[in-house]
Amino acid sequence: MSLPALTAVRERLRIAIQKSGRLSDPARALLASCGLSWRESRDRLFCYGESLPVDLLLVRDDDIPRLIADGACDLGIVGRNVLAEQVSGRESSQLVPAFREWRALGFGACRLDLAVPEDWIWRDASQLAGMRIATSYPGLLEQWLDTQGIDAQIVPLTGSVEIAPKLGQADLVCDLVSSGATLAANQLKPVLTLLQSEAVLAGPVKPFTDARAELAALLLRRMDGVLRLKDSKLLLFQAQRQTLPALMKLLPDAEPPTVMPVDGTDTLALQALCHGVMTWQRLEDLKHAGACGLMVLPVERMLA
Ligand code: ATP
Ligand code: ZN
Repeated sequence: MSLPALTAVRERLRIAIQKSGRLSDPARALLASCGLSWRESRDRLFCYGESLPVDLLLVRDDDIPRLIADGACDLGIVGRNVLAEQVSGRESSQLVPAFREWRALGFGACRLDLAVPEDWIWRDASQLAGMRIATSYPGLLEQWLDTQGIDAQIVPLTGSVEIAPKLGQADLVCDLVSSGATLAANQLKPVLTLLQSEAVLAGPVKPFTDARAELAALLLRRMDGVLRLKDSKLLLFQAQRQTLPALMKLLPDAEPPTVMPVDGTDTLALQALCHGVMTWQRLEDLKHAGACGLMVLPVERMLA
């Protein structure tokens, strides 16, 4: 399928997501929960939006910021690490970045960490002076070294950064870490975090001035609704009126509840939208404070 021509004015919104990798499935799931559906094309690089005029482009994550900067895509879902690295690249070459983070999306969490061989005794960053640091994030690392006033040598690598010390290419690494298992498997330990990352919605710095403005606003509204409800549950229970103050203290993350009297008794039936995680322990605590008939219901959608 050939892509619709790029014109200055567009009626459809185009979102770039990772074709295959850590962010592809959760990015698709998030967009689907915002009510988007697509017709798959045979080459599977472009998916035509069916429920709304919002199309998907499936690409390598590193290409997403540039696609937005070039206007080939309107929005993208990408790691903050990739976005920040490319912003740093544009800043150092005096280019004003054309893209920025619009929303943090709450998945794909990881850190950009400095990691040293396990047998190093780590004291502070001054130990890095004169060292060789392997990384796929030379822009972010250079920025950080500058702010710390440290003169170290950056060894840019595109992959397999964590084995660079073993191969004698570097003394330490600056790499993405989530569980730390890959570092440990290579006898490295994390000592400093340069950036806390997660998947973000990236978009242009300048607002849209055509039909895309309304589409982007609609998508953001739905996305905010979905993100807000991530851990939210509807809690139903009954309680005696006098236990209510104690119960509400246990529900600091709840919206003001709907309270209904149960006919002819002093019992109340309540329903409250709670935004925090509803663990078994929280339910036990509520029960001990006087709640009964506790029921936790999933919340699929909300439009404030
Ligand atoms: P592509 O082929 O699209 O270039 P990739 O190999 O660069 O893929 P992935 O390994 O799928 O990308 O990682 C995509 C994003 O997932 C990262 O940029 C980062 O934001 C996030 N991520 C979360 N945890 C980790 C991790 N442990 N290691 C690397 N990336 C992680
Ligand atoms: Zn990549």
